[in-house]
Amino acid sequence: MSKLIYMDNAATTFVDKRVFDAMTPYLTDRCFNPSSIYDGAQDVHADLDNARDTIAKTIGATSKEIFFTSCGTESDNWAIKGIAHANAEKGKHLITSKIEHHAVLHSMDALKKEGYDITFLDVDENGLVDIKKLEEAIRPDTILVSIMFANNEIGTIEPIKEIGEICHKHNVYFHVDAVQAYAHIPINVKDLNIDLLSVSGHKFNAMKGTGFLYIKKGTKIINYMDGGAQEFKKRAGTENVAGIIGMAKATEIAHNEMNKRIEEETKIRDYIIDRILKEIPYSKLNGDRVKRLPNNINIGFEFVEGESLLLSLNDIGVCASSGSACTSGSLDPSHVLLAIGLPHEKAHGSLRLTISHETSMDDAKYVCDNLPPIVERLRSMSPLYEDFIKNKK
Ligand SMILES: *Cc1c(COP(=O)(O)O)cnc(C)c1O
Repeated sequence: MSKLIYMDNAATTFVDKRVFDAMTPYLTDRCFNPSSIYDGAQDVHADLDNARDTIAKTIGATSKEIFFTSCGTESDNWAIKGIAHANAEKGKHLITSKIEHHAVLHSMDALKKEGYDITFLDVDENGLVDIKKLEEAIRPDTILVSIMFANNEIGTIEPIKEIGEICHKHNVYFHVDAVQAYAHIPINVKDLNIDLLSVSGHKFNAMKGTGFLYIKKGTKIINYMDGGAQEFKKRAGTENVAGIIGMAKATEIAHNEMNKRIEEETKIRDYIIDRILKEIPYSKLNGDRVKRLPNNINIGFEFVEGESLLLSLNDIGVCASSGSACTSGSLDPSHVLLAIGLPHEKAHGSLRLTISHETSMDDAKYVCDNLPPIVERLRSMSPLYEDFIKNKK
């Protein structure tokens, strides 16, 4: 296959060449342990401090509030279980939404087994959390609210500022899974009243196995790993130096180019959405049209199976994702699409395209030109569609 169009950037991104170049010295000539005493190691230690500082500034935090982790999943686990275990005396009630990433949902499930009480909030048909219902759910024994910044499947951006204000007012910790939003749209933890923020490097052109958790100064939380003195004694383990240096470089690039990227991606996103909705009948946008990540397109096609659609797109060199987890060996439709009210069969017929700053208008045109005949061919093989058309006449 000569042509390859990558539209699965919510799953992972390519490491930027500039990031790769920034990392390589730390895997070769400068491969010292930053905890060692000699000059070379102390230089690496200083570079690590600078990386922490660079990252802290992007969210309006101080460098002592940035804790490097191995991924977004770890950051979510630490934030949720760490707060729960450190604050059990105050209460054992936590609030989250039904459309969180599994790293959050399954952490909550684990706490439930330990005797914690979890409220899973409904969302509306666009995936938005109702802030009134959220406030009503807060009780005297509530210790944490965990709501994602933006959803990884449908791209909906949650009312984080309003939720932060409510949490602040009720003296409840506020954790935000910002894995899809960070380095893509502006985030300031002070303005937004965020106490904990989860980030993953491989969602913004750094390497896999990198991430961080912002923990506001004074937050009561359990250590994630016991051992050496790394990460201010809260998350022991020799640092992934090259990965962290790369993540700092990636965030620097992303923030320098952010405005331009948002503008260009939004233009391409809207072009794709408009063309698909116009040219393919019985298609519908999933997620909020306006409160939406600049890189997310998620469209449901009636009478089409997501997996067949993905395989057909694969045949023409397009990497995309669907609204069900069938391809990963499970038959369950996406919990996010079910939560926004789609019935099972519609949740199965959804397509997620997540573009990047590297996506060109030509790529967008290629996908939009090729998609209608693919959908038509798949529908022509569907007995349900045949019946539907017959009954319409
Ligand atoms: C990808 C993702 C995660 C998990 O991050 P990893 O670094 O892959 O563990 C968590 N939350 C959201 C919203 C994500 O998109």
